[in-house]
Amino acid sequence: MKTPIIIYWLRQDLRIADNQALHYAANNGTVLPVYIWDEVNSQEFTLGAASKVWLHYSLQNLNQNLENKLAIYTGNPLDILLELCTRYKITQVVWNRCYEPWQINRDKNIKHHLMTKNIQVTSFNASLLWEPWEIQKKDGSYYKVFTPFYRNGCLQATQPRQPLAVPREISYFQAENTLAVEDLSLLPTIDWYSKTLTDWQIGEQGAQQKLWWFVEKALYNYKEGRNLPAKRYTSLLAPHLHFGEISPNQIWYVVKQLPEEQNIDCFCSELGWREFSYSQIYFNSDLPWQNLQRKFDKFPWQHNQDKLRAWQRGMTGIPIVDAGMRELWQTGYMHNRVRMIVGSFLVKNLLIDWRYGAKWFWDCLFDADLANNSASWQWIAGCGADAAPYFRIFNPITQGEKFDPDGEYIRKYIPELRQLPTKYIFNPIDAPSAVLKNANIILGETYPMPIVDIKESRQQALDAFKAFSAE
Ligand SMILES: Cc1cc2nc3c(=O)[nH]c(=O)nc-3n(C[C@H](O)[C@H](O)[C@H](O)COP(=O)(O)OP(=O)(O)OC[C@H]3O[C@@H](n4cnc5c(N)ncnc54)[C@H](O)[C@@H]3O)c2cc1C
Repeated sequence: MKTPIIIYWLRQDLRIADNQALHYAANNGTVLPVYIWDEVNSQEFTLGAASKVWLHYSLQNLNQNLENKLAIYTGNPLDILLELCTRYKITQVVWNRCYEPWQINRDKNIKHHLMTKNIQVTSFNASLLWEPWEIQKKDGSYYKVFTPFYRNGCLQATQPRQPLAVPREISYFQAENTLAVEDLSLLPTIDWYSKTLTDWQIGEQGAQQKLWWFVEKALYNYKEGRNLPAKRYTSLLAPHLHFGEISPNQIWYVVKQLPEEQNIDCFCSELGWREFSYSQIYFNSDLPWQNLQRKFDKFPWQHNQDKLRAWQRGMTGIPIVDAGMRELWQTGYMHNRVRMIVGSFLVKNLLIDWRYGAKWFWDCLFDADLANNSASWQWIAGCGADAAPYFRIFNPITQGEKFDPDGEYIRKYIPELRQLPTKYIFNPIDAPSAVLKNANIILGETYPMPIVDIKESRQQALDAFKAFSAE
């Protein structure tokens, strides 16, 4: 056995290629790979139901890739790491950094305690192209607007790290008394999830396949195609990135090796938005719950449970919104364009606080990511950094016409509207009664009447904004 034994603590880096901490541990000793499930201490940021399902399968896949040597525990990570160090006389622990504020605090605390026991702790960046503190303005402040963040910050900074290969040889240490993935009870007792998983191959190999599928089949239509929810022109890499089954560096260097052109630039800038979200959460630890623009603290949000429920269930009577919400429920994913439409509808047409929307997404998305979700919802609500101004309100009917021109996406997720001619599918109340009858639709029975009038609710939102800005 190669000495010393080094604990490699895994969190959101569930892969073996391009893994800095694993690489270090494998090169310098025998690796004890550890995963700790600590639901109690993660408090309100405990994973949503969809994320737990993903994690279950991702850990299974990872364990296979680690030759079934993953040591799994539940409980307080500090206690468990200390216990392992004592039991096996280990003096080195490594991990890849996490950037959610509660994880940063936890890790600082653990590092401090381990170091007081003479245990060496080394951490690495394996999930961002640039560390948040590397991309700052000349005056030392952080960027609040995306374009300068990306163009003047990221693209002018040192090139991202080149990806690492899988370590040529890994010698593993087998710990005792470890749990199996199944013991974490991450899967719900009622099987709502099997069907949602059919389009996904969870784990590192699945992530690589998705990347290569995207490069071959979708990347060269990305710039325009990424706005069309009925087509598959985006990478669908988000959950794989969130769980660290693939690194942004692996993606970056695969696409950057291709001849330069606009689709590639556009795709890379979306990876840049991910970096921007992480920068925001790093410099604003209360991003998940606190309006970045504090004047929004006084915004007169409405508390309407019925409307919130209708939105969550895809029963608002506005087809593109309902299609999106049902896509989310049925697949654990929602197309980005539609995320913007349903988000705008919730906060602007229904005047419901963005935090309710973020919470629902957190529970339902396979790619639920605290930085991306919080930053995107704040952007939609108009209260975030570089946010869309509040008066720019998406019209969900014209958005449907523009981005789902044949009504294909709506028909896919709302079968009860399938027979409606495309002309009326974006707003069925405009259809003459004979057309509705022919399509077997009774509004209010087979499909809901709109829960709000789009024009009136738009005006109401503008009035509310004006009134609160004037205060
Ligand atoms: C209201 C709302 C909530 C969102 N919540 C999340 C979330 O919880 N998790 C999440 O990963 N993304 C979130 N997004 C951003 C975006 O919708 C998804 O990243 C994207 O749809 C994922 O699909 P894809 O992997 O095919 O993306 P692609 O278009 O193929 O993009 C590649 C990668 O770039 C990143 N990316 C793309 N668009 C954005 C963006 N606007 N902001 C930040 N990163 C981006 C993602 O990591 C994505 O996987 C949210 C957007 C909105 C409007």
